[in-house]
Amino acid sequence: MKALVYHGAGQTSLDERPMPQLASPTDAIVKVTRTTICGTDLHILKGDVPTCEPGRILGHEGVGIVYQVGAAVSTLKAGDPVLISCISSCGKCDYCRRGMYSHCATGGWILGNRVDGTQAEYVRIPHAETSLYRIPPGADKDALVMLSDILPTGFECGVLNGKVEPGSTVAIVGAGPIGLASLLTAQFYSPAQIVMIDRDPYRLEVASRFGATACVDSGVDDPVAKLMKLTAGTGADCVIEAVGVPETFELCQALVAPGGVIANVGVHGVKADLHLESLWDRNISITTRLVDTVSTPMLLKTVHAGRLSAASLITHRFKLDDVLKAYETFGDAARSHALKVIIEVA
Ligand code: ZN
Ligand code: ZN
Repeated sequence: MKALVYHGAGQTSLDERPMPQLASPTDAIVKVTRTTICGTDLHILKGDVPTCEPGRILGHEGVGIVYQVGAAVSTLKAGDPVLISCISSCGKCDYCRRGMYSHCATGGWILGNRVDGTQAEYVRIPHAETSLYRIPPGADKDALVMLSDILPTGFECGVLNGKVEPGSTVAIVGAGPIGLASLLTAQFYSPAQIVMIDRDPYRLEVASRFGATACVDSGVDDPVAKLMKLTAGTGADCVIEAVGVPETFELCQALVAPGGVIANVGVHGVKADLHLESLWDRNISITTRLVDTVSTPMLLKTVHAGRLSAASLITHRFKLDDVLKAYETFGDAARSHALKVIIEVA
């Protein structure tokens, strides 16, 4: 089968690889039909993710059709259309029993990291029963690819952890796919204001189409001054960090209102300063989280019912044969205006 293989920092190729085999009775083999590329894949390519070793097939998002199941899998059968979660979970360990699937003792984020991933014609899914979701008939398969990772991540790490409420003020720093996923799902709770902050005018234009009540181009305007003006000098009740660099995490600390929450979503590779000298008396909370994908069944229903326009995040499509071109386009978002790219596998 064909697969996109990581060969060390900056090196990938589309290689011929053997078909994956069932390794445990709880596994399934899925024939991938659609996959995509995540910002995390770009981090791997930079060499930022040491757990991902050369020779690994990348990708942790996608939809497909069950091809084969292990002897212990009873809730899925060959031919079932399924959504692949970016988080594999056994459903039985202490963390899974607490709904913290991201820290599953024998799972978590392993796909396209510690085990071969979804940017291939077939993929082995460990803990298949609790890591795959059956897709309802007639569902928009492209839209569902957004449910593998970015929508649950934006919702759980940003909106739920950030305690977005009716009438509250939300500031989202970073209008990439994850920031936009937070913007879309924050609207479940009818906040009074959602202010989007980014340096890319194109992404801000998308954000205003997606429901942002105000957009701040931080390359032109001072985001702190702008937000204070919009909130009568108080700041935002919920500040979502969706970039993952020290500057944006520090900016969030200047944007948060007394009693507010800074919900970190970004993947941070280096240390960032925490300004306790100005925050110690502000009654704020700071949260971090790796997505658990506990909200996936709910999000699947909202997307399928047309209440959440997941497909609007898709800007480009490629065939698996052109996956290297897809990486180039996704990696050069400033010029290509790429948000999510769909890779058609079959
Ligand atoms: Zn991802
Ligand atoms: Zn577990």
